[in-house]
Amino acid sequence: TRASTRAFLRRNAFVLFTVAAVALGVMLGFSLRPYKLSIREIKYFSFPGELLMRMLQMLVLPLIISSLVTGISSLDSKASGKMGMRAVVYYMVTTFIAVFIGIVMVIIIRPGKGSRDSPVSSSGNIEPVQAADAFLDLIRNMFPPNLVEACFKQYKTHYKKLISTKNVTIPINMTDSNVTATDLQANISIVLQTIQETVEESVPMGGTSNGVNALGMVVFSMCFGLVIGNMKQQGQVLREFFDCLNDAIMRLVAIIIWYAPVGILFLIAGKIVEMKDLVQMGGQLGMYTMSVIVGLLIHGLFVLPLLYFLVTRRNPFTFIAGLLQALITALGTSSSSATLPITFRCLEENNHVDKRVTRFVLPVGATINMDGTALYEAVAAIFIAQVNDMDLNFGQILTISITATAASIGAAGIPQAGLVTMVIVLTSVGLPTEDITLIIAVDWFLDRLRTTTNVLGDSIGAGIIEHLSRQELQSQDIEIGNSVIEE
Ligand code: ASP
Repeated sequence: TRASTRAFLRRNAFVLFTVAAVALGVMLGFSLRPYKLSIREIKYFSFPGELLMRMLQMLVLPLIISSLVTGISSLDSKASGKMGMRAVVYYMVTTFIAVFIGIVMVIIIRPGKGSRDSPVSSSGNIEPVQAADAFLDLIRNMFPPNLVEACFKQYKTHYKKLISTKNVTIPINMTDSNVTATDLQANISIVLQTIQETVEESVPMGGTSNGVNALGMVVFSMCFGLVIGNMKQQGQVLREFFDCLNDAIMRLVAIIIWYAPVGILFLIAGKIVEMKDLVQMGGQLGMYTMSVIVGLLIHGLFVLPLLYFLVTRRNPFTFIAGLLQALITALGTSSSSATLPITFRCLEENNHVDKRVTRFVLPVGATINMDGTALYEAVAAIFIAQVNDMDLNFGQILTISITATAASIGAAGIPQAGLVTMVIVLTSVGLPTEDITLIIAVDWFLDRLRTTTNVLGDSIGAGIIEHLSRQELQSQDIEIGNSVIEE
């Protein structure tokens, strides 16, 4: 059996390395904490992690484009239509379940009961960023006027818009004569600080965000794939080009994957060295954190596996075991889009999901399907309402569940994007946006957990959609077989 142990080790080498990397990273991080490293030293120390992040991000854009174009053009339009419908239904259903679980958790646990822990004042006088504007932004991003620009620009535009809207509207709306100049100043600075911290926090380590307009690229690539799929003989060159490009990118992924454990080790260790002491984790913030975590666990370890089992009648935990490396990468990078290359690899190599399915649904899922984010948005909004002693009626809770879904669709798959899109949820029911400061301290941690849930949701979705689409896939196989014989 020594041979079989060796075979087992070889087969699971990556997973074992990755798990070991997490354990080592945690140990290393905690053992360095007493030395109180400076920010600069921490930056140097986590450099290998920053490199991993950059390598993964480097592959994301060509991966999204090439896989969607090949994925869709290799299906006939009827099959891709059906598969697309299934994906949309799956995304909607699971996101709503996630939101529902979040709402139930936060209502049962009531983390915000009692008086406020934190002395942040909220006057409620600030003109909110309109949910409608954010929604229009979402749709705008689907249709980038300039494809080249969309490859590197999206995210910041949105931030800048938020900041400048605040700048303009705060003074105008402070017409209440009881408001003193100091109040005004305090309010503005709190809001600006919130937004600024959010902007800084959401830039991945190293200071540059890869603000790809993923949504725009997804929409374009899908349409493009559909069109060249229908071009018959004439489209052959393009189909082969993108197919080949996709293969080449996946080969790069196979190389980078060797480096992943090292990067993950340093990403995790660096974050542990950097994090603030968790003394204040008792009280409201602690209960809030717990509500999100319990909700995510229920969704990820119970609801999604159950759904997978009900549809496919296969063991969901074998499927999840094959995803381990992607899940750990999500935990390490807190970005579902940076994790995408690894998610592809896990699903195709370990779980043998049909490439026509992964290429189609994974890029879309990583961009718009975020169960963890939706759950977190709902919990956070209701928590903030509880802290403000605001009783929400059924209509408002319904509004929160709808806007939380929209906010999760709108959030980019990069670190802490959900914190920013939460403005939509808060303003929709008139909650003070500056209270985002209440939850910022723990957001880096919850971000990692919700990103992992997001990646799990996308992957299980691919498994389920493959199972439901086996008929179309088979008939396509036969068609291809026939045409080969005819030729
Ligand atoms: N970081 C998350 C993701 O990449 C998005 C979020 O902030 O919730 O999936």
